[in-house]
Order: sequence, then C-alpha cells, then structure tokens
Amino acid sequence: MEKGANPKPDIIQNQCFGCGNCVIACPENAIGLQSHNYFYKADIDHEKCTSCGTCIPACWCGALQQPGATDKIILDKINSYGNEILKAHGSGSDPGVLAFVCNFYQSALGEDFESKIYNQPSDGILIKITCIAQIKPEYISKALGYGFDGVLIIGCCNNGCTFTSAAERAIKRFTIFCRLLDHLGLDSKRISLNHNVPCNSSDLLTVFEEFKDQLKQRGPNPLKTEIVENYFSGPQFRQKKGYSISGGQMQ
Ligand code: SF4
Ligand code: SF4
Repeated sequence: MEKGANPKPDIIQNQCFGCGNCVIACPENAIGLQSHNYFYKADIDHEKCTSCGTCIPACWCGALQQPGATDKIILDKINSYGNEILKAHGSGSDPGVLAFVCNFYQSALGEDFESKIYNQPSDGILIKITCIAQIKPEYISKALGYGFDGVLIIGCCNNGCTFTSAAERAIKRFTIFCRLLDHLGLDSKRISLNHNVPCNSSDLLTVFEEFKDQLKQRGPNPLKTEIVENYFSGPQFRQKKGYSISGGQMQ
C-alpha cells in the first residue's frame, strides 16, 4: 500500500473556525488557511496530502473527516458493538476488545484476519484506520464508556512505518491521554499501544491473547458494570420492557 492510497480528509467548511491547529499538525504542509468571506478557513491541498490522518484529531470541532471513516461511522460502530458486549455482561464471555489496526498492517495480514481474533460479536470489533495518528482520544473514552473492556491499537509493522512523524505524534498523544486516565482514576492499562510489532498473524494473535489475559486479570471494565447496573436494572430498562413501578414494587 502506498502513501496517499487511503481516502484523504475533507474539511467541513461551516464547522471550521480557522484556528490553524491542523496547519501546525500536518507534517506535509498540505493545509493552509484561506480567506472565505472575511473569515479564515482551512483548505487541504490534496496533491500534497499523503492521507496520514494526523490533522483529524488536531481539529477540536470535527471539521476534518476522512471519507468512509468519519467520526459518525466510527462512533456508531463502537456504540453498536458496545451494546453486544453489554448484553453478554456476566455471561462468562471473554473481555470485549476494540482493536484499531493500521491499514498497512491489515493489508499484510489478509482479509480473514478479523475472524481469527473474534469468535462472536461480544468479543469485540476491529476497525481499520489509515494510521494510528487518526485515532481520536474520544474514540477510546467512548469505547470504555460504551462497554468495551479494553482498546488495542496496532500500528505499523517491523519498523516499516509509512508515516513516521505522524505515528510519533500519535504515541505522544496516547501517552498524555493515558496519564490523564490514571489521574481521573480510570485504568490506562486497559489501553495497549503496539507500534512496529512483527508483521504476521501468529505474532499479532499472541499480542491479542496477551492483552485479553491482561484484561481478565483486571476484571470487567468498572464503567461497564455501572452501565449494566444503572441501565439493565434501572427505570429506563423497565420502561422499555413495559414494566412499571407502583409503590416501590416492580409490576
Ligand atoms: S491527512 Fe496528513 S498529510 Fe493529509 S492534510 Fe491531514 S495531516 Fe496533512
Ligand atoms: S483545526 Fe479544525 S477548526 Fe482549526 S483550522 Fe483546522 S479544520 Fe479549521
């Protein structure tokens, strides 16, 4: 797979405030600010853009979106598979793992790789990304909030990273994000970042299994337990099921 082979991000002009964050973030100098009716807005030169995705998390208002991997598409996937994981809560299933795998790694593994790591929907989901630079911390916090037990991130393989500076920036971002999670009393060991790991399916299966063992030792994500207790036994669930509460008794 070549640089620039993935879809290049688009700018939603009416969401851009012209702050210039993406201009600073882009390692290829492919973004500039242009005057649009007295306001400055970002413009991407798609000739220069290598589709590394670094600019996407740099935009704080969601104005940069990659076709086929927009915030909505990724968050909808996380939400719907999170529901499968919540339904399986307490049934003795494996930890639910959201895996982000870089397209370059994925193309080396073959299309059937996903079925090798997940046996059933409640085991999790794999989302392909252009580069780990594209992953927003919001995706990870939403995944933990929606019921996943852990998030596994797989970058490029065998020191063959295509977007070196983009990946370095992403690693710094995740390091800060993990510190923030620990500071908030959440467990950053539920996130595993693997970059430049050996590029074959048996090695990646080992990484995946070791991460699941690590999650088993930590037990279910406490946020998930809270959701299950508050939702599945709470008034919202009872209303959905047609139950009502009268005099403190469920009927
Ligand atoms: S995807 Fe990468 S190269 Fe393209 S504009 Fe964004 S940061 Fe620049
Ligand atoms: S980071 Fe977002 S809001 Fe700021 S200039 Fe770039 S696209 Fe516009």
